[in-house]
Amino acid sequence: MRAQVLNAFNTPYELTTRPLPSPPTGHDVLIRVHAASYCHTDDVYASGAMGKTLPLVPCHEFAGTVVSLGTDAQTSTDLEIGSRVGVPGRAYHPCGHCNECLNGEDQIGYSVYCPKAGNNGITRDGGFQEFAIVDSRQVVPMPDELGFVETAPLMCAGLTVFAALKRCNLEVGDTVGIVGCGGGLGHLGVQYAIEMGYSVVGIDNADAPLRLAESCLKAKHSSGSHIFDARTTDAEAVLTILPAPKRIPLPSERGLPAVLILPESQAAFSFGMSLLRPHGKCVVVSFPEEGFHVSAKDLVFKDVEIVGSLVGSNRCAREMLQLTARTNVRANVRTWSLEALNELVEAYKKGEGGKLVVDLEASGLGELSGR
Ligand SMILES: [Zn+2]
Ligand SMILES: [Zn+2]
Repeated sequence: MRAQVLNAFNTPYELTTRPLPSPPTGHDVLIRVHAASYCHTDDVYASGAMGKTLPLVPCHEFAGTVVSLGTDAQTSTDLEIGSRVGVPGRAYHPCGHCNECLNGEDQIGYSVYCPKAGNNGITRDGGFQEFAIVDSRQVVPMPDELGFVETAPLMCAGLTVFAALKRCNLEVGDTVGIVGCGGGLGHLGVQYAIEMGYSVVGIDNADAPLRLAESCLKAKHSSGSHIFDARTTDAEAVLTILPAPKRIPLPSERGLPAVLILPESQAAFSFGMSLLRPHGKCVVVSFPEEGFHVSAKDLVFKDVEIVGSLVGSNRCAREMLQLTARTNVRANVRTWSLEALNELVEAYKKGEGGKLVVDLEASGLGELSGR
């Protein structure tokens, strides 16, 4: 089978022919990968800034069909040969015994925080190959309405922003700020937020992402939502432009109840914090090497709460795919063949917004007998 392999940090991926993975055992299943999506974390990994596993087949958000199942996967899941599944950027083989596994949001043995677990595409081979071994406990059954190319980019980007929105604990009719609204996560966040009944204040600072976010708003007919260009509009101006709530607040009471911070820049973080009203919630998804500078005054005098959000629970992933199937929420996707992965990476570095996906059906699928 063909696989794209990272052999050394800061080098292009190398297209390699390698044997099929060994037959799955235990909770594992072997899937034929149909679509595999590129995540910012793949870019960070290739730079050498996280993880040491080399050589590595990257990609932790992909989708495919089940080819064979380990014994436990046959008895403890509904999966069967031919099942269509999304593979989320969640833990591979959580231990089931540690504090995280026993007290997580999902069933025992699912925790994404398990310190003993690995990850497809980070500690072990992921989705940029024709066949992959995945953990049957973490995969998400695909609704009939969704195709592989549509599903793959939801498995990290979609799930991460969907779960981050839920962390905001908002009520229908509330407004959420999304800083980085035209990126891979952001444009999905805009759509999911509106489907959840919120209005959106979206912020970005480049032409293509701003256009993408605007087009997402237009498709959803959300008249209460607005997109702002951070190059020309600062946080104070955004708060002035926003329609006042029914009760005219004091200047110190203005602002949004929650914001998501998606980019890695300090400017993005500071912009989002400035949009929050007292007691507001800042949900951080990005993790720049140098961290973020936090104003202690925001914490003390505004009682702002800052939380981080990592991917999302298994339950959340199923809920997200069901909502996606029922609505017109879709990732803005551009596809490349498996052979053209390095061209996809070049396009990613130009920062044109949306999600970049390898469509393995576009490049001819390897045969199971091709071992
Ligand atoms: Zn554990
Ligand atoms: Zn990711």
